[in-house]
Amino acid sequence: MIETPSPSQNKPVTTEQTPLELIVVGAGFAGLYALYRAQASGRSALAFERGGDVGGTWYWNRYPGARCDVQSMEYSYSFDEDLQQSWDWSERYAAQPEILKYANHVSDRFALRDRIQFNTSVIGLRYLAEHQVWRVETSNNDMYFARFCIMATGCLSSTNLPDFEGRDSFAGEAYHTGQWPHEPVNFKNKRVGIIGTGSSSIQSIPIIARECKHLTVFQRTANYSIPAHNGPIDEAYAQSIKADYQSFRALNRQMFAAFGAHSSRWEESVFDLDETARDEKFEARWSEGGLGFSSSFSDTGSDLKANQIAAEFVRNKIRATVKDPIVAEQLCPDQVIGCKRVCVDTDYYATYNLPHVKLVSVKDNPIERITPQGLVVGDQEFEFDVLIFATGFDAMTGTLLKINIEGRDGITLTEKWADGPKTYLGLCIQGFPNLFTVSGPGSPSVLSNMIVTIEQHINWIMDCLDAMAERSANSIEATIDAESNWVHSGNEIAAGTLFPTCNSWYLGANVPGKPRIFMPYVGGFPNYVAVCQEVADNDYPGFSFG
Ligand code: NAP
Repeated sequence: MIETPSPSQNKPVTTEQTPLELIVVGAGFAGLYALYRAQASGRSALAFERGGDVGGTWYWNRYPGARCDVQSMEYSYSFDEDLQQSWDWSERYAAQPEILKYANHVSDRFALRDRIQFNTSVIGLRYLAEHQVWRVETSNNDMYFARFCIMATGCLSSTNLPDFEGRDSFAGEAYHTGQWPHEPVNFKNKRVGIIGTGSSSIQSIPIIARECKHLTVFQRTANYSIPAHNGPIDEAYAQSIKADYQSFRALNRQMFAAFGAHSSRWEESVFDLDETARDEKFEARWSEGGLGFSSSFSDTGSDLKANQIAAEFVRNKIRATVKDPIVAEQLCPDQVIGCKRVCVDTDYYATYNLPHVKLVSVKDNPIERITPQGLVVGDQEFEFDVLIFATGFDAMTGTLLKINIEGRDGITLTEKWADGPKTYLGLCIQGFPNLFTVSGPGSPSVLSNMIVTIEQHINWIMDCLDAMAERSANSIEATIDAESNWVHSGNEIAAGTLFPTCNSWYLGANVPGKPRIFMPYVGGFPNYVAVCQEVADNDYPGFSFG
């Protein structure tokens, strides 16, 4: 028997025989809600958080311009009426500091912080079948035992730092957007290089450009970006939602991605309208801004020809904004719109009209190496004071696979997922009893409003624990058939969409060697919820209890 070291308030002594009910890995929005639900139902729980405080993605992603692409009134918890009534957002799209403040507010309001060990990573999880408990090993060399593990580890929590030759030789300041320092970075009079043109880069470029002496953007794939039209929140609008917040939430839960119920979207095909009428509608949707533009007609998200019309509308907006026609064409994406995550921006394309901002395409001529002074592309060397890697994440599986997770019969998650992630409902993994994933592979996760999905997952897990208690079960595990069917049907749905047509991080294509599987469930949030509900209502088919 291994005992944990000296007890303190959040360092309980646990053993195989006296385990905690729950270990939660991560204290972002998923971990916080899991702790809240555990606390409310009298379950002993402890969370481990790699960061120094709560907030998860909003703790780490502090780069200039970081803000949420889902509108503030929708990107928040719905579980507590007083919480949603009393919190006031200042902008239509909340910026990172405000969202982090909200995460802190929730932690304090519900006294969750006492149950979190910060600056602590879980490095190993091992299922002890004879005791039906998980042994949890942390980066502090502590050991805990718990009946259940909730992996609230986030989908975009392991940064992707490409293995450029000489990468660590750069002598200036180097940053990754997903691990941004807590102190503001001073760009004044500095020559800045930024690699990547995904959401993080597209948000930060206009802000950095305002301050620095010179900015060079290295673009491998041009991305579609829709204007945010951000601004102070319309008070009357916020109050109208608060007057009946539950109905607003319910309406959004019926949406494919669990948000955007109030955004314009048309039932007709893009081909039902003549060009003028069609463009008027696109124009109206462009003026509204934000995510959802690519699926504003019934077929623009699903039919290639319809999608090309929506894509060309955006390309024409880029051509109309960017004065240099060569730069404009370089910024025009050619993939399906919506295949890679669409970005939302403030002044992104217009920034390329500034004389000190330069775009370098590395599509056909990749970055060759990083040098102490900067980087080399072909026969050109660029020199910088600051180099920013906006190169994304090892999404959805990266963080889970970094933890040494050993399930029943000694099988590790790395072995189990060698050919790609496999889950049942995006919640459970065969061979790994009593371990739940939150917004992991097989869940609508990154294709949905994350907070809504998180609440649904945690509610389902907590109901499942209640159901287990009722039947005096000590363990729950997905069956191999149920898992295979879920993976198979997820792949089938994805194959029928336009998603597999480009190299996105949804497919794992951004990380060399990562198996190419479309990871999120693409059947839509309402369908997903219906399946989960059916499983719970019918005594959990696809699971075995022990
Ligand atoms: P990302 O979308 O994966 O973008 C990474 C960028 O780096 C891409 O342009 C990629 O090019 C480029 N890149 C990667 N490796 C490269 C290499 N070896 N050489 C040259 N370029 C390279 O990452 P992200 O911008 O951090 O965003 C990730 C996701 O986080 C988003 O899609 C979104 O879901 C989420 N996010 C959300 C918000 C928000 O809600 N406001 C903000 C930021 C991020 P390729 O496209 O060619 O691979």
